[in-house]
Amino acid sequence: MRKNIPFLLCIIFVFLFLPMVCLFSGASQTVPPPTPDSPAPSDSSQETVSVLDPATGKVRVLSLIEYLTGVTAAQCLPDGEPEAIKALVIAARSRLEYRKACSSHENGAVCTDGNHCDSFWTEEETKQNWGTYWFGQYYPILQDAVAQVAGQVLTYEGKPVLALSHALSSGQTETAGEFGLDLPWIIGTDSPFDITANNYSVTVRFSAGEFKERMLSSFSDTDWSAPEEQWVADIQTSSAGGVISLTAGGRNITGQEFASALGLPSNHFTTEYRDGKLIFTVTGMGNGFGISRYGANELAKRGYDAEAILRHYFSVCEIQSFQRSAGS
Ligand SMILES: [Zn+2]
Repeated sequence: MRKNIPFLLCIIFVFLFLPMVCLFSGASQTVPPPTPDSPAPSDSSQETVSVLDPATGKVRVLSLIEYLTGVTAAQCLPDGEPEAIKALVIAARSRLEYRKACSSHENGAVCTDGNHCDSFWTEEETKQNWGTYWFGQYYPILQDAVAQVAGQVLTYEGKPVLALSHALSSGQTETAGEFGLDLPWIIGTDSPFDITANNYSVTVRFSAGEFKERMLSSFSDTDWSAPEEQWVADIQTSSAGGVISLTAGGRNITGQEFASALGLPSNHFTTEYRDGKLIFTVTGMGNGFGISRYGANELAKRGYDAEAILRHYFSVCEIQSFQRSAGS
């Protein structure tokens, strides 16, 4: 019996301790220990967003999912293609992280003013704006799209970008640099299906008196003593045809300001003076920067997935899982 003791000890080692050695060595291969400088992965379901209501000055804390759903609801077609909706969600997450990094508001908040940050619809507002039938049919599709891609962002040189969008381009999107904006990821590209939209082009006419009145309400320092046919002059356009600037009433005005003052759907217009009227032929809707929401939907109908849509409109950007920087 005494002769068998070394043999029994070997058996005990092989069956009891060797599996434990293998188990721990395997674990060390699949889960590397964290390092202090590695970025923390962003868990979208746990993230929150501070949202400022400019009308009341109050800040609400929403879940990231709720915020992205409300922003995308305010932008997308209720029956939009799911891949186009996902592209809009990724663009919205990118804008959120860009604005938080820029500290647009105190404590990293964003506001619900669409002219400053992004418009936002609550679930109830979405139901009112879409109608009960459309809400019931399509809101779950929007929620599903948000859940799938809320953790993704577009980046340029490793940082989330201000991934702007507009409703409808003139057939080509704008390059931000031509308008003096330092957004090097906003580069003009074809958006060929936009010209097939029902509301692609509109003609807007103003009597000379009506035009002057509207301009004066926005630009009180203008002078209208010149002949009416000379009121609008020096129109400077981008390579895509958008109006960068012009002279009206002797004052230099940006195309965006001019379109806004007259209520034109975009700054992509031509003008003529005829029979005492100023006539504007306008194409597209919105500022023409970044992703065309109509164009994205048409690309999705033709088989583009969200990634392909974003690569089309933001060709110099990467699509990445958002990584929160260490310490933020
Ligand atoms: Zn804001």
